[in-house]
Amino acid sequence: LAARLAHIPPTVFSEMSALAVRTGALNLGQGFPDVDGPASVVAAVKEALEAGANQYAPGIGVPALRAAIARHQQRHYGLEIDPDREVVVTTGCTEAVAAALLGLVDPGDEVVVLEPYYDSYVAMLDMCGARRRPVTLRAPDFRPDPDELRAAITDRTKLVLLNTPHNPTGTVLTREELQLVADLAIEHDVLVVTDEVYEHLVFDDRAHVPIATLPGMWERTLTLSSAGKSYSFTGWKVGWATGPAPLVRAVLAAKQWLTFTSGSPLQPAVAHALDHEPDWPTELARDLQARRDLLCDGLAAAGLEPRVPEGTYFATTDVSHLGWADGRELCLALPERAGVVAIPTQGFYDDAEAGRQLVRWAFCKQPDVIAEGVRRLAAAD
Ligand code: GLN
Repeated sequence: LAARLAHIPPTVFSEMSALAVRTGALNLGQGFPDVDGPASVVAAVKEALEAGANQYAPGIGVPALRAAIARHQQRHYGLEIDPDREVVVTTGCTEAVAAALLGLVDPGDEVVVLEPYYDSYVAMLDMCGARRRPVTLRAPDFRPDPDELRAAITDRTKLVLLNTPHNPTGTVLTREELQLVADLAIEHDVLVVTDEVYEHLVFDDRAHVPIATLPGMWERTLTLSSAGKSYSFTGWKVGWATGPAPLVRAVLAAKQWLTFTSGSPLQPAVAHALDHEPDWPTELARDLQARRDLLCDGLAAAGLEPRVPEGTYFATTDVSHLGWADGRELCLALPERAGVVAIPTQGFYDDAEAGRQLVRWAFCKQPDVIAEGVRRLAAAD
């Protein structure tokens, strides 16, 4: 294995899903829904396949999808986007992150990133040779500390890699928190790359604020998202980046050598979803909120009082309440002891102490699955 990869452990999501399959345990680990998105969108893929959308799409993405993404940003956030220069379609948001970092970060550049971080960020930052500067979201409330942000974002920073709603903590950054990042980014002339795949999955009447909508931020921000979480098609891997033309060109410059183009028949179907199922993600969020409550109440009853998340698919607990010092040890023992799989989030921290006891539970599952999961946890010794 190349040195640039040898020190990065395999992704914990695959490890824990494999553990669930091997043991037959209930999978509350990896975040994927157990019910697919709208049937009309599946029908749109079939139609595209039969209509002959089977050869390479344009590298930047098919025009209908780029136009639908621009309309989506206009409808939800009032952003006016040129679909020919300010949008690029990617193979999931994971490719958008990879292409944004490869397109913008040189070896030795400093990148500020919230930790716990989604694991692909760190792997990509390492592959780019970036110097990582984490800002730690700590239990129990998982908010960024303004002084830590101020200390982290300096003239040495090339870009800030944000994620809101935040995986794994479920934190939704407030307008004030984003404004501080924006002020610092402007003061130090820094770019922002922001992963907003959970943009529609926010709870309790919260609003998701894209940092690109704050004054002075459009021109320095790449906003990334995807259809996977908004429409419950995580396996389709259709994502996108929007932003000013020079930043979008940087993404495209790297993307052309990664995947060249993204799946032709999926793109018109995602355009159909954005244009013709505009309320579907909001209904999903309402539904998910009830399942969040089911999971959180059940975890609390099992002695694992969670931090109630403001958005995403995930709730986090501190397992030291149950007498476990190490979340990974608990997660490895859990299939046998309780028949449940969860994700230890310690690997998403550079600050090992901040994450050691934390475990993430997914609630993007059917209510009966969640109910059975928490029943098993309560019954376990
Ligand atoms: N985003 C999903 C999660 O956080 C999983 C994606 C993956 O397995 N890489 O669980």
